[in-house]
Formats: sequence, C-alpha cells, structure tokens
Amino acid sequence: MNQNNQFELSQVMGEQFKFSGKYNLKSLLMQLLWVIPLMIGLSIIYNYICKWIPLAYFNILGTFAYGILIGLCGYVAIKMSHTRNKVVLTTMMLILGILGLYFAWIFFFVVQLKLTYADGFKMIFQLFVAFDMTSNWFIKGKFYLWRLPKDVQGSWLYFLTHSIEALLIIGVPIFSGRLLNSREAYCEDCQEWLDENKEIIIEDVCDKLWPDLTFKEQNKFLRNKVKNLEVNELLTAQQVQDKDSHLRCELKYCNNCKKFAILNVSRKKIFKKEQEAFNKKFETETEQEATIVAGICIPSSILKNIINNKNKGV
Ligand SMILES: [Zn+2]
Repeated sequence: MNQNNQFELSQVMGEQFKFSGKYNLKSLLMQLLWVIPLMIGLSIIYNYICKWIPLAYFNILGTFAYGILIGLCGYVAIKMSHTRNKVVLTTMMLILGILGLYFAWIFFFVVQLKLTYADGFKMIFQLFVAFDMTSNWFIKGKFYLWRLPKDVQGSWLYFLTHSIEALLIIGVPIFSGRLLNSREAYCEDCQEWLDENKEIIIEDVCDKLWPDLTFKEQNKFLRNKVKNLEVNELLTAQQVQDKDSHLRCELKYCNNCKKFAILNVSRKKIFKKEQEAFNKKFETETEQEATIVAGICIPSSILKNIINNKNKGV
C-alpha cells in the first residue's frame, strides 16, 4: 500500500470530513490554566457592563458577547490541545459555560456589593459559601439584571430573565464552539490542523452543463457531481469577479503533506430581467444563493491539480 494513501484511507473521499475522535485529556486540562483566569477577567468586565451601561439592550448584548467569548476561549483550547472529539468538545464547552455563570454570579457581589476582588477570588474556591450566598440572594429577588425595574424582582419575569441569562451563558459557548470547530479539519498524519486556505471564485458552470434545469435542480446535480469527485468542469472553469454569477470554492488543506483537502462550494446566481415602464426599458437584477457542499473530502490528486493550476479554476 502506498504510504501517501494512508490519509485518504481514514476518510471517505467525496463525503463529509470526520474527526478521528482522539483527544488528550491532560493536554486539554492544561489549557484551563489560561482559560479560567481569562474567564474570571471576562466575568468582571461583564458585570461592569451590566452595572454601568444603562441600556437594557446593551446589557443583553453583553450577555451574548460574554457567551461568545467563553465559546472562543474553549475553541482555542480545543485547538491547542489537538482535541478531535465532538463529545469532548461539547462537554468542555458545557463545563466552561457553567463556570462562566458561576463566575458571573460571584463577581456580581464584587461589582455590585463592593466586596473586594480578594473576597471574590476566595469565594470561587468556597463552593458552599458561594452557593449559599447566591441562592439566598436569588430567592430574595435581589440580583439585578438587564435593567429590570425594581418592582419585578422576585416575580415570574425575574425568574424568567435569569433563566434566559443562564441559558445564554451556558448555551452560546456550546453553540459557538461547535460552529467554529465544524469548519476545522485535522491531519492525523502530521498531527496538525489543516491550516492552509485557498479560495477561488469561478464562473457558474451550471447553465452550460444543465441549461434546461431550474436553479434548485442544477444545485442538486452539481452537488452530486462534486461528491462523485467529477470536477473536471470546475478545474477548467475561468475565474470571475465576486459580483458576477459564480461558484465560490473554499479549500482547507495541510500544507505539510498536501494529502487531502476539505472543500466548501457555494453558488451565487444573478438573474437579469428586462422590464419596461414609462416606455423605457431597464434591467433589474435579483440574486439567489445556495450552499452546494460543505466540508467534503477531496483527494490529493485533485488538490495537487488545484494548487498547480494557480490561474485557472478549481
Ligand atoms: Zn498533513
């Protein structure tokens, strides 16, 4: 067996890239050494946003941003620890989200009650004290969130907004972390993430190939063609401008071995229509967009063609 084919064997060419499921727990836990201090800093900033910005919408946006930043930290940690396992990723994000909520509560006391930062840091490790204090405050309706009027505190609206805040701080990192990770692929041979990107915009060949089909039918045919790795028409297509009807082909590959790539193809078609009004003819344009394929594996033979074919299409 040719050694170069090892990588192609671990993935089915023309199908969605699949992670190997490998991970190193020790290396992942080591990432917490920078993730946790950074999250504590973010939770302090989040509480100051809630305290100082008087607009409720900005407070809610602050909650979103806090969740997204936690997700981003988790995503970088997953990448740096070479975790290629979606269950581990989701669990990690869940844990970070819960920690994010925990820190947000603790530093609420620091920011709102003027406890010292030292008290806050100490409370992080005093789990029971922290839970006792937060649950006490929560039940009494004293947590101040999203500029709610004082008289709703303790009502169903109060509990609802706090539940939404908790869901956002825990849910957004899971969602954003998984979304960011879904665009990644890993080279098991080189033990590296695919880090080389290439984007090519080529003419929309669908009308030439299937002139009688509708936009949606053409998409389906093109999808099958790419999945069957019949990409000759794409390899010889001319490059065009972004504003014209086009196929956008995005490739990600390991620059070290160049053994395979993952490919995204999206399509934009501009429909021109002649119209007449007040005895004048004019053209109107509408456009339609579609994702043809996302994250499918392309073998080294085709990848090499693309890399060597710099001035042509895919
Ligand atoms: Zn490689």
